[in-house]
Parts: sequence; structure tokens; C-alpha cells
Amino acid sequence: MSKPEQIRADFAAIGALNVERMTRRDLTLRVLGALAPAADPLAVAFCNAHTAEIALRDKTYREALGRFCVVNDGIGLEIAVRILERRGFPENLNGTDFIPTLFAVLPKGTRIYLLGAAPGVAAEAGRRFVERFPHLELVGAQHGYFRAEEEADVVQAVAAAKPDILLVALGNPAQELFIARHFDALGAKAMFGVGALLDFAAERVARAPVWMRKARLEWAFRLAQEPGRLLRRYTIETAAFLIAVLRLRVLEEAR
Ligand code: UDP
Repeated sequence: MSKPEQIRADFAAIGALNVERMTRRDLTLRVLGALAPAADPLAVAFCNAHTAEIALRDKTYREALGRFCVVNDGIGLEIAVRILERRGFPENLNGTDFIPTLFAVLPKGTRIYLLGAAPGVAAEAGRRFVERFPHLELVGAQHGYFRAEEEADVVQAVAAAKPDILLVALGNPAQELFIARHFDALGAKAMFGVGALLDFAAERVARAPVWMRKARLEWAFRLAQEPGRLLRRYTIETAAFLIAVLRLRVLEEAR
């Protein structure tokens, strides 16, 4: 199996944020490389316009993402790099679609830990994953509504379970900050911030119909479901992100 170094590094720079230009296959090979004995642990962030907007204005988050393989998720990032580099990404990569395709090709006995979402959701998602991918071993499921003073115990429980793959579903930016804070202590070989994946997998939240996903309108479906939480994100924050991108482009041209 290919090692991570064999995959050509190609980044799109959105200001100080580097997003890798990768196909699903490249990312799968990168993860399989991280599962090899003695390989360095890998953390993956699926970066959408919301994540990128936070990263551009928040140094702590940007620095946390420095240890991640950051890949592109959604139409906002695609528009941003076309504005900045006149070249899009090879594929759209989001956790909800990528993780099941990864699970399908993981070696037999790969140990999976699910962390995040409301009580009961991670366990239910795990049950369904193992039913669908019986070659995987679920070694832990923990909800994501623990108190700050319980965080050390949560990290210890993950490490004790010795997972190969850890999915963290705490929302952005909390999930990436959690992974960065405990990068080595978690002891997982590959870690992913996966947003609402566990809710989808446990069928607690409905996904957009396939035609909407294909038209890259999944955001509109989610907005209709959760307008209170998402309206600001999809209007003001997206506009702020695109304005920041346009400013970067103007600065680039003035050089
Ligand atoms: N979540 C959690 N603990 C928290 C806050 C959120 O486990 O303190 C979970 C929430 O239940 C959901 C996921 O994090 O399963 C958030 O996913 P989503 O992609 O909807 O959030 P976003 O990243 O868009 O803010």
C-alpha cells in the first residue's frame, strides 16, 4: 500500500490556510498509510466555508489546523479557490460521504471509536456501521456532551480503547480544537472531525436528497431544517468569508 510521502502534495492557499488538493483515493491512501505500524498519527479536517472563515480570523484555530490534513468540503471552498487560483479542487470531500467509503476498504479488524453527538447517538451509529461493515470492530462510543472537567477522562477512555480510527463529532471548531489539544494523548492512528455524520448515520437527522447533494445544495437543505442555528452562518458568515477571499485576490493582484 502507498505510503503518505508517495502522494504528491498540492495545496490551495486561502490566505494562511492551506487546503490540500486531493481526490477521495488520495485521502484513502493517506489514511491507510497512517494505519501502518510506526506511521505518524493523521488528523483530517473537512473544511467548509464556515470552518475556513473561522480559520482566517482566528489564529488559535488556524494553528490547530496546522497539524491536520485539511481537505475541501462544499461549494464555498470551491468558489474561493477558483477566485484565488482560477483552479478548483479535484473532488468535493466531505466526511459524511468519505467515511463510509473509507470504512468499506479498511482492513479486517480495524478498531473504530466514535465520539460526539447527543447521548445514545454514537452507540446507535456504531451499531449501524458494524452491521454494514462487519469487518470493523467498534471499540468505543461516547456522547459529546461531557463537561470540561470530564474531558481528561474522555481522552483517557479513548486511549485505553486503542482505536485505529477515531471520529470526533463535536461541531466546528470544537472537534478540531479537541483533536489538536489531545493529538498524541488520544492514541488513535487516524482522527477525523466529522460534524453531523453520527446524527446522519444513526438516522437522527435526515440528509438532503441525492439530487440536492449532486447540485451541491446540501447546505440549503440543512438551512431549511435548522434555520435558527444556520441562518447567520449561511448569510453573514459566508458573505464575510467571500469578501475576505476577494480581498486576498485584490492583494495578490496588487503585488
Ligand atoms: N455536538 C456535541 N457536543 C457539543 C456540541 C455539538 O457532541 O457540545 C454534536 C452535535 O450533537 C452534532 C455535531 O456535534 O452531532 C455537530 O454537527 P454539525 O455539523 O451539525 O455542527 P457544525 O459543525 O455544523 O456546527
